[in-house]
Amino acid sequence: MKIKTKLTSGIGLLFMIIVLLGVLAISYIDKLADDTKNILSDNYNSLDYAKGMLYALDNLETDREALNIFMENLEKQRLNITEINESEATDRLARHFKLLDENPSEQNIRQLRLDLNQIMSLNMASIQRNSVIAEDTARQATLWISIIGICSVGIALALLLLFPSQITRPISELTRGIVEIAHRNYSKRLHFYSTREFNEVATSFNDMAERLEEYQQSSLATLLSSKKYLEAIVNSIHEPIIGLNHDRQILFVNNEALTVLNLKREQMIHQSADELSLKNDLLRRLIRELVHPNEKHEPLKIYADDKESFFQAVYVPIKLTETETEGEKQVGNVILLKNITEFKELDSAKTTFISTISHELKTPISAIMMSLKLLEDQRIGSLNDEQQSLASSIKENSDRLLNITGELLKLTQVETGKLILSPKISKPIELINYAVSATRVLAERFGCNIEVEYPEKIHKLFVDSEKIAWVITNLLSNAIHYSKENSRIIVGAKEVDQTIQIFVQDFGKGIDPRYHQSIFDRYFRVPGTKVQGSGLGLAISKDFVEAHDGKIWVESEIGKGSKFTIAFPVR
Ligand code: ADP
Repeated sequence: MKIKTKLTSGIGLLFMIIVLLGVLAISYIDKLADDTKNILSDNYNSLDYAKGMLYALDNLETDREALNIFMENLEKQRLNITEINESEATDRLARHFKLLDENPSEQNIRQLRLDLNQIMSLNMASIQRNSVIAEDTARQATLWISIIGICSVGIALALLLLFPSQITRPISELTRGIVEIAHRNYSKRLHFYSTREFNEVATSFNDMAERLEEYQQSSLATLLSSKKYLEAIVNSIHEPIIGLNHDRQILFVNNEALTVLNLKREQMIHQSADELSLKNDLLRRLIRELVHPNEKHEPLKIYADDKESFFQAVYVPIKLTETETEGEKQVGNVILLKNITEFKELDSAKTTFISTISHELKTPISAIMMSLKLLEDQRIGSLNDEQQSLASSIKENSDRLLNITGELLKLTQVETGKLILSPKISKPIELINYAVSATRVLAERFGCNIEVEYPEKIHKLFVDSEKIAWVITNLLSNAIHYSKENSRIIVGAKEVDQTIQIFVQDFGKGIDPRYHQSIFDRYFRVPGTKVQGSGLGLAISKDFVEAHDGKIWVESEIGKGSKFTIAFPVR
C-alpha cells in the first residue's frame, strides 16, 4: 500500500469516527432534550393545572373567582391531553364540575378531587416513565460515545505508534545502505515491503548497487587483465627489472631479475627491498646506489646461469600526476639492469687490440726516431735546408705518434686493471718542477711564461710521482696549447681543508660549462677544437688521480681561461 493511501485512510478513518462521535452525541443530546421536554411541557403542565384546580376547590367558599380559575385550568387541561385515559379522566372531571356548578355539595367536591388525583397520578406515572426513558437514552449515549471514543483513541494510538516507525525504519535502513555503498560494499541490497513508495526506493537502490557491482567486477577484470598484460611485458624483457614503490616495497620483478638475484618470486613480491637486501648482496648494492644516486655506479659483475655477466644498473623514477593542482609526484622507482656483457667483451677486445697495436707501433717509431737521429748526424752527410725541414717535420710527427701510443698504452693499463701504483713520499714542488721542465721547450715555442706559486709550508704527498708528474705535465701542456701565444700560465700548490691541491691556471680560450664533465671522458674533445690531440689526456689524468683517491676538476669560463685542480687527501 502507498504511504499516501495509508495516511489518507488512517486520517480519514479518524475523521469519520470524530464525525460519527459528533453526530451520535448531537442525536443523543437531541433525544434527551425531547425526553425532558415531554416531561416538562406535557406532564408538568397537567400537574400545574390540576394544582390550580385543587386550589380553586379549596377556596370555593372564600374566593368568588375560584370557579373561574377552575374553569380556566380545566380548559387548559382539555388542550393538554398526553396520556392514555387522560382524556376520559378530563371529560369526567368536566362532567363532575358541571354537577358541582348545579349542586355545590361536598360529595361533588370530593368527586372532583378524586378526578384531579387520577389526572395527577396519570401524569406522575408518565413523568416517572419518561425519566426512565431519558435515563436509558443517557446510558446509551454514554455507552456508544465511550465505544466510539475508545475506538478512535485506539486508531489514533495505532497511527501514532506504527506510522512514524513505518517511515523512519526504511529511511534509516536506506541511510545504512548508502553508507555501505560509500564503503564500496556493493553487495548490499534493501527489501522494503511495507509501502509501494519504499518498495520502489529499494528496487532503485538495488538496481544501482547491482550496476556498481557489475562495474566494479568489470573494472576489476580489466585491471587484472591489464596487470597480467603488464606482467607478461615485464617478463618478456630480457634484462632484469625490479619495480619498487615509494616505500621501497617490491611491486614487480621479472624472471631475469629472479635469476640474477637467485630469489623466488614469492620471496620478493610485496616484500621490503631494504629488509631483503640484508640477505642479498646484489640487492643491497642496488638499493644503496638507488639511495645515494650521486655515487659512481660501476658495472655489476654477476655470476648466474654458469656464466659471468656484466650489468649496468639504471634507476628510473616513476612519476605520476594525481591531481592537476598537485603536479607530478614520485611514486616509486624501476631498477633496470642493462646487460653490457657483450659491450664489455668488445671493449676488452678493443683494449687488447689497442694495447697490442700501441706496443707494436713503439718499435717502428723508435726505429724511425733512431734513423732520424742518424740522418741529422753531420758525420753521415749534411742536409740541405729543405731536407732539414722535412726531417724536423718527421721528428715532430713521430714525437706526437710516440706520445699518442704512450697515452694509449697508459689507457689500456687502466682499462685492463693493470695499473700498478708505486707510491712514495714526494714534495709537491718536485712534481711541479718536473712538469715545468718537461714542458719548457713547448712553452718557449709558444712564448708562454710559466709562473710557480708555492706556499712556504705544505704537507708532502704519498703518490706514484711518475704518474702524478705526468698528469701535471699533461695539464701544463694543455694550458700552453689552448692559450694564446705569450700568455701567462700559473702552476702551483696549496693546502685546503686537509687536502693538497695542485693547480694549473691559464688565461686562454676557456671551456664552455656544458663540457666541464665531458672533457674527462675518453676521446672527448670540445667541438671546434683545432689543436691536434687524442682526447685521452684528461681521461687518463682522471684515472690516475682517482686511483690515488684524489679528485680532479675544472673551473673555466669562455674567454677568461681555465683552472684545472687535482687534490689528494693529506695522509
Ligand atoms: P686533447 O688535448 O688531446 O684533445 P685532453 O683530454 O687533454 O685531450 O683534453 C680534452 C679536451 O678538453 C681538449 O680537446 C680541449 O678541447 C679541452 N681542453 C683541455 N684543456 C684545456 C684548456 N686548458 N683550455 C681549453 N680547453 C681545454
